[in-house]
Amino acid sequence: MTIRIVIDRERCVGSGNCLYWAPGTFDLGDDGVSVVVDPEGDDEERIRVAAEGCPTRAITVENRTGPAEGPDEAENEG
Ligand code: SF4
Repeated sequence: MTIRIVIDRERCVGSGNCLYWAPGTFDLGDDGVSVVVDPEGDDEERIRVAAEGCPTRAITVENRTGPAEGPDEAENEG
């Protein structure tokens, strides 16, 4: 399943907990605030643990529910 990771940059205090749990997914930016480097960089379980371990609950993990795959709508020319 594809997940969507959202970091509330106002809340992040740069503790680095998320990097510890899911180093392939999170990194600290130059401003000391966490960023997502690869939403599929770690097992989903680790990413969820990282989100739960954030001291300020700055990380939200959502299941991605996109529209069902369907045929591309081709431009109708003429
Ligand atoms: S665990 Fe939370 S507060 Fe710490 S760096 Fe990650 S997002 Fe920021």
